[in-house]
Amino acid sequence: TSPVRDDVRLSLRIVPFGNHERLLAARDISHLYRLEQMRRDFVANVSHELRTPLTVLMGYLETFEDMEDEFPSPLKRSLSHMQGQATRMQGIIEDLLMLSRLDGEGPMASEQSAVAIPGLVSALREDAEALSGTAGHRISAEIDEMLWLRGDAKELHSAFANLVSNAVRYTPMGGEIALRWVRDGAGASFEVRDTGIGIDPEHIPRLTERFYRVNKDRSRDTGGTGLGLAIVKHVLQRHGAKLVIRSRPGEGSAFVCLFPSARVVHKVRESHIA
Ligand code: ADP
Repeated sequence: TSPVRDDVRLSLRIVPFGNHERLLAARDISHLYRLEQMRRDFVANVSHELRTPLTVLMGYLETFEDMEDEFPSPLKRSLSHMQGQATRMQGIIEDLLMLSRLDGEGPMASEQSAVAIPGLVSALREDAEALSGTAGHRISAEIDEMLWLRGDAKELHSAFANLVSNAVRYTPMGGEIALRWVRDGAGASFEVRDTGIGIDPEHIPRLTERFYRVNKDRSRDTGGTGLGLAIVKHVLQRHGAKLVIRSRPGEGSAFVCLFPSARVVHKVRESHIA
């Protein structure tokens, strides 16, 4: 931001000039910034406008569901497809709204109240069991009960839940999924490891882009919106955290969220006096 006018954005670069001198090159990128702002507002407005008619449609579909017994089978099948697609669209709209909210906000101050991550991770483990259903994944969790985080509970839940749901969706039946919430140096890390399909190295740098998918059909079939990792990236950025992705095709993947020590709160176990 320019110190003179707050609607001016400058890109600054220091370039070598001669042997001992440096040049400060400034470029006015205000137009790019305004365009980006317009794109953001547009996406947020469209998503918001789509929400109401979709809710109405879903209401009608529910009414039909109550009368399902009177329908011939082909109509019953269509009804179930329509409900599936409407739910998917609702997921995309909610994710887009969440992304534009996250986009508009800068980094979060670190003086947030502490979030009980141990409880959150064990709840996510149960959600993963439910999501896995008959696929019978073996799901484990290692949780440091004394480790909490300063941040936004809703955002952190959303980011971690996306990683867990991906692990379930991209791991074939009977595979393993391991959640870990542990100390990492002076900081802490949340890791989701799976023995799933894995990802080719060339795709890894682009995974957190909106709607980027390695295999579009597969992601659609498994019910993804293509926005999950973009949400993860934004939430982590706001918490001063980093996402590390390690993966081997055919062997599995690990998504690790690294939180700096400034965010971590070490709880003290209360002593029990007899
Ligand atoms: P989607 O809704 O498509 O899953 P995401 O943003 O969550 O969208 O993920 C982007 C892409 O990254 C996915 O389409 C998939 O190709 C890949 N991906 C994410 N998580 C995993 C995983 N655990 N194993 C294999 N591929 C993954």
